[in-house]
Amino acid sequence: MKSLADQSVTLLKGVGARSAEKLAKLGITTLQDVLFHLPLRYQDRTRVHPIGALRRGDQVVIEGEVDLAEVKFGRRRSLMVHLSDGTGSLFLRFFYFSNAQRQNLSRGVRLRCFGEVRSGPSSLEMVHPEYQRLSDDEPLMVEDTLTPVYPTTEGVHQLTLRGLIGQTLELLDRSPAALQELLPENLLQRFQLSSLLQAVCFLHRPPPDVDQQLLLAGEHPAQQRLAFEELLAHQISLLTVRAEHLRIKSTAFAEQNRLKQALLEALPFSLTEAQLRVVSEIEDDLAQSKPMQRLVQGDVGSGKTVVSALAALQAIGAGSQVALMAPTELLAEQHLNNFSQWLTPLGVEIAWLTGRLKGRAREQVLQRIESAEVQMVVGTQALFQDDVSFNDLGLVVIDEQHRFGVHQRLALREKGQQQNRTPHQLIMTATPIPRTLAMTAYADLDLSVIDGLPPGRKPVTTAVLSSSRRDEVVARVRAACAEGRQAYWVCTLIEESEVLQCQAAEETERLLAEALPELNIGLVHGRIKQDEKEQVMGQFKSGALDLLVATTVIEVGVDVPNASLMIIENPERLGLAQLHQLRGRVGRGSAESHCLLMYQSPLSQQAKQRLAILRETGDGFVIAQKDLEMRGPGEVLGTRQTGEMQLRIADLIRDQEMLDDVRDGAAMVIKQDPTAATALVKRWLGDRVDYGRV
Ligand code: ADP
Ligand code: MG
Repeated sequence: MKSLADQSVTLLKGVGARSAEKLAKLGITTLQDVLFHLPLRYQDRTRVHPIGALRRGDQVVIEGEVDLAEVKFGRRRSLMVHLSDGTGSLFLRFFYFSNAQRQNLSRGVRLRCFGEVRSGPSSLEMVHPEYQRLSDDEPLMVEDTLTPVYPTTEGVHQLTLRGLIGQTLELLDRSPAALQELLPENLLQRFQLSSLLQAVCFLHRPPPDVDQQLLLAGEHPAQQRLAFEELLAHQISLLTVRAEHLRIKSTAFAEQNRLKQALLEALPFSLTEAQLRVVSEIEDDLAQSKPMQRLVQGDVGSGKTVVSALAALQAIGAGSQVALMAPTELLAEQHLNNFSQWLTPLGVEIAWLTGRLKGRAREQVLQRIESAEVQMVVGTQALFQDDVSFNDLGLVVIDEQHRFGVHQRLALREKGQQQNRTPHQLIMTATPIPRTLAMTAYADLDLSVIDGLPPGRKPVTTAVLSSSRRDEVVARVRAACAEGRQAYWVCTLIEESEVLQCQAAEETERLLAEALPELNIGLVHGRIKQDEKEQVMGQFKSGALDLLVATTVIEVGVDVPNASLMIIENPERLGLAQLHQLRGRVGRGSAESHCLLMYQSPLSQQAKQRLAILRETGDGFVIAQKDLEMRGPGEVLGTRQTGEMQLRIADLIRDQEMLDDVRDGAAMVIKQDPTAATALVKRWLGDRVDYGRV
């Protein structure tokens, strides 16, 4: 029995090369794809409704007799057909009609129509209904199931799709085994799931008494059955990647050493309870000879850096090397500063490697890395170029991971591998990842959460106001700086164009310099030369500058405790999580801090509500969850373009309650039936399955 997944859609009647191409745009290439192309909604053509009981918005079948048909010349010429059935009457309205059509719709003719009921000027109407003439000798049958309405695309008609799906269902009727059930019987029972065959057939041909609300919401058990299987396949894929990776060995590092002790003693603060907990989770991992894959989540300012420094020292103390990678040069530099400050006094050699380092200087650094003269390398992605080879890389730390995406994370894993050893991986992110995503897109990682801030932090007071109050805002900046505080002014633009964004920042700086002549103002954006950027940041950090005008380049990591005011222009153009990151640049010192979100009027009510979330909460998890609900997982993960976690049927928000079951189910399938596990991944992820080996 050939599986539907191995049969091309061109096997169906009426599908040639041309239409196959168009169907491919709907993601349909095999007969299995045809079956998984589910209806958006349904029409009820299973019974004839009395006209007297119709309500506006109903989509129904009616039958009646024509009392009158006439052409009206109003604003638009139209053919109006008055139809009644003894319970009531309505008009059929046609803007386009032929003479023949008009003559056919004469008084006394009986019609069956399907259409949407609208209210017209004098009574209810159906505009351009589908209709058929009824004759006494051959009674028309009604449908006995609901009629599916499928998502279509240009050149693929609704009726074509219905036809193709009809053909496929017939095929399935003759040989049901062509749609292989991949879920083991005991799993179906445990989670009370129907068979795949039942679920699919039901969704294409639901009985008239089905709860349509449930179907529309995607919450019918038949839909949930499919969503469950899809999420299960994703989960299995990530767990498989993880299991494969765990077969490779890493170096085990003793939990305690002299260097770690020395750093803890030298720190001007003691670690918070949350930090201590995460540090000990990492210690345990690093003491194993299987690779650590740990994601440390901690809100902005929660103190992730020092946690990673302790992890680094566990490896370095045992004679191994550590690489720390940040997404931007600015951040990498900041890490370099922190690590130098903490580790250099302990005798640790630190090198610096970014794309900017060229020629001889670069060669020297590479040589020192290879010969193990340096124990720690801080940099950007440049760390993982082909010509960089470590003597003995024991740990890779990746900061602000969400910017890299799953593919890059997995690619890095590969790069770090030497012979049959792989470095431990510690990933740090300030974007709180909602549980739903943690359990799906990150299922191959263990999770640690730093769920508290160091003592003494004050929440940032946030206000949302219109740009018409710009003068007041400028006055706030003046007042804050007069008190010896510092401020950020962040310019954003919706265009992806960096050039425009930088121009906007330059213009803003000019205007602010005019309005605030007494202040020292600096400017950083993506097109300012690195040396100059460093210089400006340095001046801001030392307090020589009062106000820093910047683009979103300062989004992550920058740490200037004396800055207590942040203005964000056009916040409506950014995601909530991103705004929360930006806002995290203030509130790092002892002063009351403020963030002013200055939107461009007019702003929709919905957009205002969205911004209000930031005013109401400083909890990054709540904010990320809202962001996820409003904008989808791609935005939150920063992988919108790569199409990761693109689901066909499941919806992470709608279906989040089944995730616990999905996780248990995935483990069950992998254990009981590895062949089915592989087949599931192939069915739902197809070629994308290979991302474990990019
Ligand atoms: P993030 O988690 O955003 O990367 P950082 O690691 O940059 O946060 O830490 C923010 C600031 O808090 C730094 O100045 C850091 O030295 C300081 N810090 C970290 N841990 C503590 C602590 N336990 N007590 C006081 N300050 C701390
Ligand atoms: Mg950080």
